[in-house]
Order: sequence, then structure tokens, then C-alpha cells
Amino acid sequence: MNFLRKVTMGSTQEVFVGSIDQGTTSSRFLIFNKRGEPVASHQLEFKQIYPHPGWHEHDPLEIVSSVEKCIDGAVQQFQDQGHNINTIKAVGITNQRETTVLWNKETGEPLYNAIVWTDLRTQALVRKLKHRLGADKLTDICGLPLSTYPSVGKLLWLLENEPKVKDAYEKGVLAFGTIDAWLVYKLNGGPKRNIFVSDPSNASRTMFMNLNTLEYDDSLLDFFRIDTSKIHLPKIVHSSDSSAYGSLTSTVLKGVPITGCLGDQSAALVGQKGFTPGLGKNTYGTGSFILYNVGDKPVISTHGLLTTVAFDFGGNTKPMYALEGSIAVAGSSVKFLVDNFGFIDKSSEISQLAETVEDNGGVTFVTAFSGLFAPYWIDDARGTIFGITAYTKRGHIARATLEATCFQTKAILVAMEKDSGHKLSELAVDGGMCNSDLCMQTQSDLIGIPVKRPAMRETTALGAAIAAGLAVGVWDSIDELKDVNIEGSSVFKPAMSKQESDQQFARWQKAVEMSKGWAN
Ligand code: ADP
Repeated sequence: MNFLRKVTMGSTQEVFVGSIDQGTTSSRFLIFNKRGEPVASHQLEFKQIYPHPGWHEHDPLEIVSSVEKCIDGAVQQFQDQGHNINTIKAVGITNQRETTVLWNKETGEPLYNAIVWTDLRTQALVRKLKHRLGADKLTDICGLPLSTYPSVGKLLWLLENEPKVKDAYEKGVLAFGTIDAWLVYKLNGGPKRNIFVSDPSNASRTMFMNLNTLEYDDSLLDFFRIDTSKIHLPKIVHSSDSSAYGSLTSTVLKGVPITGCLGDQSAALVGQKGFTPGLGKNTYGTGSFILYNVGDKPVISTHGLLTTVAFDFGGNTKPMYALEGSIAVAGSSVKFLVDNFGFIDKSSEISQLAETVEDNGGVTFVTAFSGLFAPYWIDDARGTIFGITAYTKRGHIARATLEATCFQTKAILVAMEKDSGHKLSELAVDGGMCNSDLCMQTQSDLIGIPVKRPAMRETTALGAAIAAGLAVGVWDSIDELKDVNIEGSSVFKPAMSKQESDQQFARWQKAVEMSKGWAN
């Protein structure tokens, strides 16, 4: 492990770690102290490009420049507080996963916009791949089923449809990267230094990486007919490493080493300190992402979940794996009540509206606006509200909306327990929707275990800072992180009988069944 390089500290000088949080809609830079408290931050939104229905792109150069501006902005704030820039010892990166950038290895110029993880243009291509001999073996090796989600489809689509990409491939100068690899490459100055790496939590979202070896797998690359003599893939290195990621060559932090890297959901698990098997977290953002630590061996799901690398801190520690389940519509269902129904003026008012009634009044809302994700995977379901009577009020629908995400979370946790053979003892939560106390209490009631919400919810950024800080000795080991970010957390304990919660869940499952087939 690279935890050995201790930071030389004066007896009283405080040290800090920077964290680049490169998300789907914005880039951010936060500076954390050793207690895991953010002391400065800067955020910038960037352009979302939708060239056709279902297509979603980002400008790769704008992603880099937004990150650079955020670094400068946050450091300015940091210095304005009287801190010395030299106390920032390292920088970590966390990023939107699967989003794919292709560039010319010799010039560092992107060859196309980044294709974002949400992009659906590969639907037809994926259908074709599913019929190729060996398609049924892929998940056992890489943990992911064929879908529009992983990076591979985005690469194959560009090879087929973008002449500049095909040309670079034929000339052997095509570089492929997820956002972490692209950022590390560009922040290191591009082709001059040519630092071209990715961490296993990101590489495990491509469909090229073998989950057991944490290396690119020839059988996967062969299946996708990718000629590795023509394409450059980033070297897979540990998520926490004192030298592999180079250092910043631009911004006021020029010279500061990049020493940690984690995909966003893995970073949130680390930021919630989900280091040991049996710990899980749910990030209730626009969609919802649940990761459940299953230990140092991958568990391949037979219940509709994905398998991913949680983190790999290197040295004498083993990589840790997670089962993952995602819900397509979570916080966005609340936003839907704001924007489409006009029930409330802003999302934060949902609890107040829901509390105008005692219960859901028999209403169940299956928020399957674009089908249902894990563990159901029902493409042809659509949003359906069941149980409306002359008695139904807005409050009932507000409650049913919050409950929909809680029910789907329960369904995913049940699948996780079946796959892993362990029962979750507590669920750590973050993301916008967890601000609703009512929603979190409902969640605890439905899953029958405590729901723990930290006061400081920048857990994704904190996770990247932890990965970076461990590599340079800001924290010596995971044990030292015990007291990080515990102050002021709230715990929601189950207050509903198991019988009642089982009955409610059975009703939800019935509603899911009945929502099937609408879009057929
Ligand atoms: P993302 O990172 O995906 O952009 P956030 O973690 O910022 O998402 O969460 C934003 C989502 O959380 C929005 O969809 C919003 O409707 C929902 N949200 C924000 N505040 C609340 C609240 N107090 N109660 C319920 N939902 C909320």
C-alpha cells in the first residue's frame, strides 16, 4: 500500500486534501480537512448536449476547463480564509462513470464529444450483441450484462459511425478512456507526459475488465472484436496510489499530486465508510444508486443486480467488490410533482405536502417513467398511479411518490441479501432526496433496519479525498477514518411492524406486476 509516504507536518500545521467531483451536470472541487469537513468548494455547471432524442453528450474540453476553473475558485476561497496553499497535499478524482471519451493519442485532441452514460443510441447495437455467440458468458467475467449503460457500446458505435474515430483506430492512435482517464491525462498535460491510467472501479464499468484479475480480458475484447494493437486502453492501477496518477500541470495547484481515483458510486460508498462486507449505501439523487459491500470476492448476481469493484486501495489490502442496484427515477419523481403537476413550488416542500395526510390513502405510484431498473428490468412498464378514488388528495400522491423510491430500494436490498447471503444491518444514505425526514423514516419502516444520514452529505467528494489522502499518509489506514464525518448524523429507526411493512410491500409488488406491458 502507498500509505507509507507520510506527510511531513509541522507540529500544528493542518493538512488538506482536494477532491475533483466531475458529475453528469456539474464539476466541483472541494477541499477537505483531516476530519473530513469541507472547508472550501466551487461548482460549475456545463453544457448538456442532446443532438437527437435519446442522445446525450458532453464537450470533453469543457469538462477539463470546468474542473480547472473549479480548482482555482475553491483554492481562492481557501486562501481567503487564511490557509496556505502548500497545506493541500494531494488531489483525488471522482467522476460520472461509463461516459466515454475517444482521443488522438499523439495530439491529445478529442475525436468526438463524450458519450454520456445515459445515452441510448446503442440500443440496436446492444440487441445485436446479445445474439452473438458467447454473450451469455460476459456477466460472469465482467459483472455487467449487455445494455446501453457500459462504455463498450459507446466505443463500438463510434468505431462504426464516426470516420475520424475509425481512421485513428486504423492508424493505431486511438485512445479510449472513461472520464477519470481523460481528466488524469489532460490534467497531466496530455501527450507530453502521457499519463494514461484508470482505476478498477471505473474500468469495471467498461465491460473490458476481468473482475477477478482486474486486468483487461482477452475473451471480452475478442467478443467485442476489438483489436488491441489498434487501440490504446488506460493502464489499470490502484484507486489509491502515490505516483501512478501524476500531478497537476495547470491551475494554482500545479505540482500537487493526484493520488486517488474512484467512480462516483464507489466514492460515495467510501465516503460513507462502507469498507467492510455487509455495509451498504443509497444515494438518492435524480436516480438512486445502491452499493452493497460484498467483500474481497466478486458475487455475480442471479437477482438482477450488477457486480462492480467498490475500491482497490492496493498494497497489502485486497480489492473490495460491491453489488449494485439502480433506480432510474428517484428524486426526479419529486421534481416531476413540481414541474409537471405543479403540486409544490420546490422539491424540499414534498414532505410538508405528504404530511397533510396520514398515509397514502390506498394510492401506489409506480414511477416507471422509462421502465423499471433493478431488480425488475421491465422495459415496457410506464408510470402508473393505482388506487385513485374520489377521496384521493395531492398529499396521498406525494406520499406515494416518496414511497415508490423506498419500495424499489427495498426490492434491491432483498435481491442483495439473496445474492450475498448476508443481511444488511444498516443503510447509509445521501443525495438530495434523503433531505426528506419523512422519506427516510418510511425507508427505515419498509426495510426494517436503521437508516443513517450524515450531517455532511458531500460523501462522493469525501470518498475521492479519502482515496487520495490514504496514498500520501494524510490518513495512515482505514482505521484512522473511524471518526471522520460522524458528527451530527441522524438515525431513522424502524417504527412499523413487520406484518404491516410486508403487506405494503406485497401491494407494491402487485402494482409493479400490473404496470407491465403498457409501452408494448
Ligand atoms: P444529482 O446529483 O443526481 O443531481 P442530487 O443529489 O442533487 O442529485 O438530488 C437532487 C434530487 O433530489 C432532485 O431530483 C430533487 O427533486 C430531490 N430533492 C431535493 N431536495 C429534496 C427534499 N427535501 N425532499 C425530497 N426530494 C428532494
